[in-house]
Amino acid sequence: MRQLLFGLLVIILTCSPAYANNFFNGTLVDAHSQKGALISSQQLSEVINKTDVDFTLLSFRLKPGKIKEELLAIKQETGNKVRYLIPTKLGGYMRKNTSSEEANNRLKFLKKTAQESNMNYVGFGEIIVQHAPHNHSKLKYDGINLDLSSKRVSEAIDIIIKDNKSVIIHVELNDYETDSKKILKQLVTLGNKNPDSNFLLMHMAQVKFSEAEFIINNTKNIHFMTSHADNEMKLKMKKGRGQQGWINLFDKDNNLQKKWRNLMNNNPKRFVFALDNVWDVQWLRGYKERVLIWRKALASLDDEASISIACRNSNEYFKLGIECIRDRN
Ligand SMILES: [Zn+2]
Repeated sequence: MRQLLFGLLVIILTCSPAYANNFFNGTLVDAHSQKGALISSQQLSEVINKTDVDFTLLSFRLKPGKIKEELLAIKQETGNKVRYLIPTKLGGYMRKNTSSEEANNRLKFLKKTAQESNMNYVGFGEIIVQHAPHNHSKLKYDGINLDLSSKRVSEAIDIIIKDNKSVIIHVELNDYETDSKKILKQLVTLGNKNPDSNFLLMHMAQVKFSEAEFIINNTKNIHFMTSHADNEMKLKMKKGRGQQGWINLFDKDNNLQKKWRNLMNNNPKRFVFALDNVWDVQWLRGYKERVLIWRKALASLDDEASISIACRNSNEYFKLGIECIRDRN
């Protein structure tokens, strides 16, 4: 019923002249989502085509031999709305007892394959540094808590920097609260040591507002990706599976909180829109609604911030070579 009502609301809103005022109607890039084996490439393409996202940077959790075929199928079925991010999590990368050689050899192999078979990759998927344990029917996982100087993490970052690509990093500052000071310090060092590279923190890194300010004030090239920082994730946490530390940029009415809105308006280059759909249910349920919530949030920002966060920043950081249009009408 809730879905139905929301559907009606979507139709009414998107068909009315008020849409342009209330919803950002420019180019929207989801800068990090993932495809696993639970959703077919056809299903995924259909849902992308039905949702108002113009481009999706997509990583894969599949057997390496299957990736190219699926990527090409999705590109074809969506009219080229998808760009390839080389997976970083295959080969046991997220498991504690995998050696760094094992983990990063897979990364090098996937990079070589992508180059040799012209997969036109624009970057690499998120590097998992910290990840809370999961106790879910789809994922049983005992968690990992590394840091930026851990061998496998620093090697992976090196591979990506040498390839002249932006580095997407997944840390969980709330779920690993006791280590957050150390991680913040390492991030500042990393950013300042590599002034020509850009680093993007998935899921807002689960930062507190003051920690976001700290990163913005102490670096120029460490940015925030907006995935999993909304009411939906906040509700899901109550079930006690997986991460407990997701932050929420919104108020209960799905408007961006004023302090975050101001931070985005004052630092338009430092935020990048991303949804990070991972599981089949995230693609198949609530995807459209989340896009709409974000189009509304983007419309509440200054012009410069909205187009930058929706499109320009990912276009620059991942060298997408697309046109970022303010108003597609
Ligand atoms: Zn992640």
